[in-house]
Amino acid sequence: NAKEMGGDRFSFYEEGMSSETEKRLEIENHLRYAIDRDEFKLYYQPVIDLKTNSLSGVEVLLRWQNTDLRNPGPDQFISVAEQSGLIIGIGKWVLEHACKQVVTWSQTDLPPLTVAVNISAKQFIDGDIVESVRFALRQSGLPASRLELEITEGLLINDTAEIRDTFMQLKKLGVHLSLDDFGTGYASLSYLKRYPFDTLKIDRSFVHDIDNCNDSVTLTNAIIAMGHSFNMTVIAEGVENLHQRRILRERHCDMVQGFLYSPPLPTDQFVSWAKRYAEMQTSQHV
Ligand code: C2E
Ligand code: MG
Ligand code: MG
Ligand code: MG
Repeated sequence: NAKEMGGDRFSFYEEGMSSETEKRLEIENHLRYAIDRDEFKLYYQPVIDLKTNSLSGVEVLLRWQNTDLRNPGPDQFISVAEQSGLIIGIGKWVLEHACKQVVTWSQTDLPPLTVAVNISAKQFIDGDIVESVRFALRQSGLPASRLELEITEGLLINDTAEIRDTFMQLKKLGVHLSLDDFGTGYASLSYLKRYPFDTLKIDRSFVHDIDNCNDSVTLTNAIIAMGHSFNMTVIAEGVENLHQRRILRERHCDMVQGFLYSPPLPTDQFVSWAKRYAEMQTSQHV
């Protein structure tokens, strides 16, 4: 008990707190008000079909405009949001806004895009993800088949009946499920059999090493072949140059995303990018 150890609880904690803990607390305090203060913004990164070179969809990536904290990136604030439980409310906000945005785009001359949203394990376990998804789809009018939920291997480690049941309910809704950052975690291949994933995303660390590491080419090759043998679509993330794309195409990877095409962009810039991309495609065969 902090009191018995001298002083009141607060000063005890403050003295003992590492600067890392302090920073996370500060982030948490600001995160609490981020939605009300309209500080979140969604960015969109194009996902390209390697067979046709056409724009197939977008991945939604959350950005936080908080000048006090100097606009922390997802790698700084998502884990705080997860630990504090705030990710549940934030995750709903992301889902609803992302679905509405792609429906708005469908009403312009953009092609009908799929939208991939990152989902934290916490949303799966503590939040009512099925109800959140159902609500976002109903509210926006987005067909379920155009929504893809990205999940990382971390979630599957628990491998409980509840998680499996949630997966089946989501599949029944008709949304697509995608295994993100494949190859970085504790991937047990048996997960691929037990969980009905539609898509496998090769982590960008493999793609990055394709350039100068034969083992990475071999691994990427194996991941693509395995994904296909489970009837999954395989996406490579973090594609930055033509050499990487050529290898991925030779290996029959289905889709790519990365700085070679575009970084994640705010709405307006994404629309301009998509228009320029479509024009370039019709004027020359890339
Ligand atoms: P992720 O889902 O694996 O997203 C891909 C990350 O790679 C993004 O980082 C993206 O900006 C970056 N990226 C894309 N192309 C390239 C490339 O060619 N080269 C390099 N070096 N990087 C590239 P970002 O936006 O910083 O997001 C980091 C992570 O934060 C995401 O990894 C995702 O796990 C998480 N995240 C982002 N938004 C959300 C969200 O709305 N909800 C949840 N739960 N997590 C999110
Ligand atoms: Mg992702
Ligand atoms: Mg991820
Ligand atoms: Mg990833």
